[in-house]
Amino acid sequence: MSYNIALVKGDGIGPEIVDSAVEVLCEIGKKYNREFSFTPYAAGGNAIDKYGIPLPKETVDGCKASDSVLLGAVGGPKWDTLSGDKRPEKALLGLRSELGLFTNLRPAKIFSSLKDACTLRPDIIEKGFDLVIVRELTGGIYFGERGRRTGKYGEEAFDTEAYSKFEIERIARVAFETAQKRRKKLTSIDKANVLETSRLWRETVHEIAKEYPDVEVSDMLVDNAAMQLVRDPSQFDVVVTSNMFGDILSDEASQITGSIGMLASASLGSTKCGLYEPIHGSAPDIAGKNIANPIATILSASMMLRYSLDLQEEADTIDKAVEKTLNDGLRTADIAKGKEYLSTDEITKEIIKRL
Ligand code: NAD
Repeated sequence: MSYNIALVKGDGIGPEIVDSAVEVLCEIGKKYNREFSFTPYAAGGNAIDKYGIPLPKETVDGCKASDSVLLGAVGGPKWDTLSGDKRPEKALLGLRSELGLFTNLRPAKIFSSLKDACTLRPDIIEKGFDLVIVRELTGGIYFGERGRRTGKYGEEAFDTEAYSKFEIERIARVAFETAQKRRKKLTSIDKANVLETSRLWRETVHEIAKEYPDVEVSDMLVDNAAMQLVRDPSQFDVVVTSNMFGDILSDEASQITGSIGMLASASLGSTKCGLYEPIHGSAPDIAGKNIANPIATILSASMMLRYSLDLQEEADTIDKAVEKTLNDGLRTADIAKGKEYLSTDEITKEIIKRL
């Protein structure tokens, strides 16, 4: 069986970390007799330099025609002064929307060998945590009507949040199904004490809950959730929330794991073709130095095998090789705590040795 994977390496450390993940995939291909073919496409700052726009049509078409998309990260200081539609991040929003990717899955778990990198108190870390944030990705305030106008106090700006029942139903189903495959506990996060969209969110999640009686569901206000995540993250299994709340909470969840260089994400829609990327950005401060941590991207490739290509055993093998590498004490600079560390290339080779 062969699989056609679109590679959007992006900017900054993007090319280095995607190359590491490709090396791992090629090795997995040899081990399990799978054929992966890779086609690179431009997006973000490099596409602006080459084509004058962050997301060329060729990239959209190529990604749509692929079995799945592996992305590094986009953006950097070179393009920071560009306005609105010209910004590199537009490539991400555009790709998600063109591929109809309405769900973002972000696992956040503590690796036992990296407990000392976690920023929480030892008694909290001791309990461990392993949660998944299911974030709605194509609706809400990031896609609502916006603009500038003259208001009561002169110039003002506005952004609007709108959610249809349909959008809430489909993300709720993904969240319940994710919970069914895990510890069967779902926390729905909203701001229903203030926002009308949150009240529809809450009502709809409870309607959908009737289809999943085996999943225990509860609601939590977003301000409380932000607090609970650092107070006792072990209470969460699957969390479902809107686009903006998910954006903020998933960064908080990643921070408490110790390093953003370790966390993967998957964006999924109604077809098998998903977009897989590390949660961190293009890290321009360390680009080109061969010191970036490639693990988030390697684990993103593993999620791609699991969710888009149905290659569970291959995905398990990658996850175990990463865990073993860490358990053997091998580290990149971001997680070495000032001790000896390996380069991007070296840690990639160590992971490959353990596949
Ligand atoms: P960042 O995630 O790129 O970097 C934050 C810090 O974490 C930096 O010190 C960086 O060196 C470090 N870091 C990140 N990934 C790492 C890795 N794999 N290994 C080791 N260290 C790592 O966030 P930022 O600095 O706020 O943003 C830099 C650029 O990335 C900006 O242009 C931003 O717009 C863009 N960005 C892109 C995405 C994306 O493509 N999905 C996401 C966030 C930010």
